Amino acid sequence: MSLLIGNVITNDELTQTFGCSTQGGMRRSNKTNTLVLVSNHVKSIYHDRWVDNVLHYTGMGTEGDQSLSFSQNRTLAESNFNGVTVHLFEVFEDQKYTYQGVVKLAGTPYQEEQLDSNNTARKVFVFPLVKQDGSAPIPIDREHFDAISKKVATKVSKLSDEEIAERARNAHTRAGQRQTISTSYERNPFVMRYAKIRAKGICQLCDQPAPFRTKDGEPYLETHHIEWLSKGGTDTIENTVALCPNCHRKMHIVNDKQDRLKLKEKRKSNE
Ligand SMILES: [Zn+2]
Ligand SMILES: [Zn+2]
Repeated sequence: MSLLIGNVITNDELTQTFGCSTQGGMRRSNKTNTLVLVSNHVKSIYHDRWVDNVLHYTGMGTEGDQSLSFSQNRTLAESNFNGVTVHLFEVFEDQKYTYQGVVKLAGTPYQEEQLDSNNTARKVFVFPLVKQDGSAPIPIDREHFDAISKKVATKVSKLSDEEIAERARNAHTRAGQRQTISTSYERNPFVMRYAKIRAKGICQLCDQPAPFRTKDGEPYLETHHIEWLSKGGTDTIENTVALCPNCHRKMHIVNDKQDRLKLKEKRKSNE
């Protein structure tokens, strides 16, 4: 199978293409003289990150300090002169391997502290990698990006306050970054405006006046679709309400059933 950057394949296809093992983050194949790297954002305990088109990729070994001479860490560390071609895949959704292309070492592997699979601090090796053609990583769906951030935040929230403080103080100064693709809905301006007119400056969930006025002197409210557009809701006056920023956030974070019912009732009564 011929692979193009951006192709999404299954684990079976990956294994067949490269003649490598069916699992692991670093899979060496003598048959094709390749090393396949899998940066798995769904399952892995590592937090690989892209900074200025360089992937900071965490090496092998899920417990204790990692060693540079261990197994495929060594293959990767020597990959610029051992003749092994290194291919990179990223996983954002279970069982979907996105091909990023051939990569090479962009600098000397360095050590940093990360948590192991038992949540114990240990030293890992991080390999700075760039794509051979120098290009940026392919953009990922905004949804996947958000899901990964949420997963990491949940993991972090389970640590002790001391551990979190320690890690926060020693954070990387440069934030990881990557391009994302998102879908924006072109919302009907009449429907939005009409929802605000109907609300008369009062949030339709908490029934309080808008928290402030805009520079134009208008009460500030935001329009919201009771059934989200992304979930198939319609862009109609029946499905649109005007909310204060707090309540709007709440609807997007909690989306409580009682709140939804209240908004639907409001919609019916102030027709
Ligand atoms: Zn409100
Ligand atoms: Zn909304």
